[in-house]
Amino acid sequence: MSLQQHIVARIRAEGPLRIDDYMTSCLLHPRFGYYTTHDPFGADGDFITAPEISQMFGELIGLCLAQSWLSHGAPSQFTLAELGPGRGTLMADALRACRGVPGFVDAANITLIEASPRLQARQRQTLQGYDIRWADTPDDLPEQPLYLVANEFFDALPIRQFIRDGDKWRERQVGQEDGTLVFGLGPDQPQPALKPRLTDTRQGDMIETCAAATPVADTIGARIEQHGGAALIIDYGDWHMTGDTLQAVRAHEKVSPLTTPGDADLTAHVDFETLAQAAACAHSQVTAQGVFLERLGITQRAQALARTMEKPALDAHVAAHRRLTHPSEMGNLFKVMGLYQTGSTPPPGLDP
Ligand code: SAH
Repeated sequence: MSLQQHIVARIRAEGPLRIDDYMTSCLLHPRFGYYTTHDPFGADGDFITAPEISQMFGELIGLCLAQSWLSHGAPSQFTLAELGPGRGTLMADALRACRGVPGFVDAANITLIEASPRLQARQRQTLQGYDIRWADTPDDLPEQPLYLVANEFFDALPIRQFIRDGDKWRERQVGQEDGTLVFGLGPDQPQPALKPRLTDTRQGDMIETCAAATPVADTIGARIEQHGGAALIIDYGDWHMTGDTLQAVRAHEKVSPLTTPGDADLTAHVDFETLAQAAACAHSQVTAQGVFLERLGITQRAQALARTMEKPALDAHVAAHRRLTHPSEMGNLFKVMGLYQTGSTPPPGLDP
């Protein structure tokens, strides 16, 4: 049986699925889910993420968090956490770079939050030699200062989609026709939680909600507000969004979200406003990734590394620097938001 057949059977039995149910099955189904069955990263995979493009990304993220830790008086016990660490590359690069910050790596309780057992095994391999623990949810993070990074994590969380119809909303669903998956719309219904969106949308506009993101941001914000720390949230998205951003990517190409369930990565853009509201601590301005990395000194780091390289590695290195920072590549599409304690200062590279 394929995931497609499994979903069609479910729809026949139970009726159309909400988009969040469909996404959860596609990504994390215990037998057929995308992250359960694939290692999606890199040139041979379906997409490439910033830490897989260049070691500079994880190095600068690590040093940014370590600088925050120093400016908070270098607490002797703290959690260094990552949400959705993929292959563990970002954390490995961060820890290597932070060996130059006395006390930081030794004091860190390193905690990874990863849903896929397959990727957990990969992270264990990448991070050999470090004392790492895995937690199921941010609620399991210890009550102590928290320094956290989430790169392309929130985009993987399941969303719901609603189309405005008068003062009511119709929910987008996944149905089936003769065994083929098709989008449909549920009946119009009042949605009290969406009332604020009646002021800034028009008939026919689509909006997305991500219920799974709220408790995650809420817990991270609570730890930071109570014990200190900083979080860096990096993803595609914006502050306050309208429109359909559900997308599927397979072998580096965009495909329909319905044609290859379980074999394509499925994501949606991240609404940083709802994350900031849920976190209820201080947040930085949402800053373009390219600007953030330049402020952290990526050009100087790139030049230092370039001195040790020869072609063709040098060409690849120059291309990677451009890919991470240039506005026409990842530099503008990806955004960074910092979370920090009220009354404190944002992590380096970000404005209050
Ligand atoms: N941060 C990595 C990987 C990004 S892909 C990088 O930049 O390369 C998304 C990651 O989040 C994967 O590791 C995926 O398995 C994980 N993930 C997706 N949904 C999750 C969930 N609900 N809980 C925990 N991890 C999840």
